[in-house]
Amino acid sequence: MNKIEHIGIAVKSIAAANEIYTKLLGYQPYKTEAVASEGVQTSFFTCGDSKIELLEATHPDSPIAKFIDKRGEGVHHLAFSVTNIEAEMERLEKEGFVLLNSTPKRGADNKLVAFLHPKSSHGVLVELCQDIVE
Ligand code: ZN
Repeated sequence: MNKIEHIGIAVKSIAAANEIYTKLLGYQPYKTEAVASEGVQTSFFTCGDSKIELLEATHPDSPIAKFIDKRGEGVHHLAFSVTNIEAEMERLEKEGFVLLNSTPKRGADNKLVAFLHPKSSHGVLVELCQDIVE
């Protein structure tokens, strides 16, 4: 694991949350992006070496909609930057972590991503992400 790449925050309204986080941080998000496969709209703020990702559900079956129904708005996941996502997935599986993806998939912000079940990590959903180099 290289560093905390970003912290994902589940929100009901990305427009409302963008306003608040723009006030909090003192600057605008650097991008917004829809991820159709996950049913989410995202926006990203830099914060030093890390980022904050806001996530709004785009349909009721989205994992974000389910999260908000159950737990309300708030911190949704921690994302760690990795150099070789497949090697990390293999290592973590051997360590007994439960992977939610058998292969990495394309996530927001030009990343390959995979998730670990929160039950593996004391209630925290963990995302691994590797930059896609094209
Ligand atoms: Zn994320």
